[in-house]
Amino acid sequence: MSSQSFAATIEKLKAADREIVLLSHSSALLSWDQETYMPRRAIDERSAQLSLLQGLIHQRITAEDNRRMLDRLGCSADNPGGDASLADDDRAFLRQYQRRYQRAARLPQELVVKLAESTSRSQAIWAEARAADDYASFAPHLTTLLDLLLEVSDRIGYTEHPYDALLDQYEPFMLTSEVDRVFAELRAELVPLVKAIGAAPQVDAALLRREYPVQQQAAFGATVMQALGYDLERGRLDTSAHPFTTTLGAHDVRITTRYDPHFFNGAIFGTIHEVGHALYELGIDEKYHGSLLAEGTSLGIHESQSRMWENMVGRSRHFWHHFYPQLARLFPAALVDVNPESFYRAINRVEPSLIRVEADEVTYGLHIVLRFELEKALLSRTMTVAELPEAWRAGSRRLLGIEPRSDAEGVLQDIHWSMGGIGYFPTYALGNLYAAQFMRAIEAELPSLWDDVQRGEFAPLLNWLRVNVHAHGRARTAQELCSSITGSELSAAPFMDYLRAKYGDIYGLR
Ligand code: ZN
Repeated sequence: MSSQSFAATIEKLKAADREIVLLSHSSALLSWDQETYMPRRAIDERSAQLSLLQGLIHQRITAEDNRRMLDRLGCSADNPGGDASLADDDRAFLRQYQRRYQRAARLPQELVVKLAESTSRSQAIWAEARAADDYASFAPHLTTLLDLLLEVSDRIGYTEHPYDALLDQYEPFMLTSEVDRVFAELRAELVPLVKAIGAAPQVDAALLRREYPVQQQAAFGATVMQALGYDLERGRLDTSAHPFTTTLGAHDVRITTRYDPHFFNGAIFGTIHEVGHALYELGIDEKYHGSLLAEGTSLGIHESQSRMWENMVGRSRHFWHHFYPQLARLFPAALVDVNPESFYRAINRVEPSLIRVEADEVTYGLHIVLRFELEKALLSRTMTVAELPEAWRAGSRRLLGIEPRSDAEGVLQDIHWSMGGIGYFPTYALGNLYAAQFMRAIEAELPSLWDDVQRGEFAPLLNWLRVNVHAHGRARTAQELCSSITGSELSAAPFMDYLRAKYGDIYGLR
């Protein structure tokens, strides 16, 4: 095939992709509205709108024309980037296009519909089961979902483990065995670290539970957002029950947060976290705008950005050296007898807890390891759905040293499984590992990084991330980013070094 006719075919695929992206952003806007401003009784019409759009998107993705064009360009499962003579950016585009087509085309419509029905029913049942602490009522639905997900995995195909196909939806190109490898490192070192911290005198964090008026929290959040470089001409902040970031276009990446007047951490660290996600999507190179490459490359890399800003920067002494004086002025009553050091220690208090979303950055990884081990056992059929609650309790005891008294605060706590989201959890912990490994490279290249942070200067860090991570969007995979930035594959060692240094200091270990 001539390069001219290659070019014409790629242009056609790009035009088709553009419309899929437009439909996806329209659907995202409706979802954003549903979580923020939609009146409660609009839900039925909204569900119909969303499911129509999802159907149209699926049709466009699986259109027969796509297959013919991808074939013509030499794309296949083994060679998704197509003909070797094509430009790198075109190969990157085709790699993602082929992958999206293949995943969708391998799933029969009937299975997709069954899965959608089953997850929507399961979510409602799960919410009731959690409220009533009644695992038995949820179990049959989880069994059905598991069967469907195993069928999905079989249809899509996998390299080593049925878990691969599910993980791949969230962390493309990563194998279960790689997660096994880094989680084994993580588990081996985290468990003793958490024990050592538990044996040290505990940090007092009661000051965080004082009265923090919402208006002042919002004002402080706005100051921080602006300092970090989140541009309100390309985004906005609203409130929702569960904070999230959503991309509605190259210049429209919105975030949400929530406020609790009696707990300081939620809104501010939630806001910084979502700003981290938004900065990633806003930093993608213009040449990819409007295409399927204009997205974060994996959920793990996405979490590396949110967690780097939230935990490594936002919970650092340097950050609060700069912001604490403003904070003390905004909350004179709550912080009357508090100094910057006791504040810093309070926001970094470590304590094994039962609920993942409330966990500190040290114990968090163990919540994820627990879920990953259970998911894998379910998918390889070495454990039944009936055995899950007891396995959860045993795992919690072994990893965190505590055991839930009820299934509501154990196996039923997360919404993910009821949504069919098996394979999603690992990305949260992978984010911490990527962040620490990237940070090591950043510190080497930007020796004044922490002095800058201490002066409230975040542009050097943001610019570094833009050039090395954000700009590439999905044109580079997570593995490619990791090796280009750090020169090696993903490892838990940099994250463990970071935790040992930070918490060894706070808790006076050794
Ligand atoms: Zn996140």
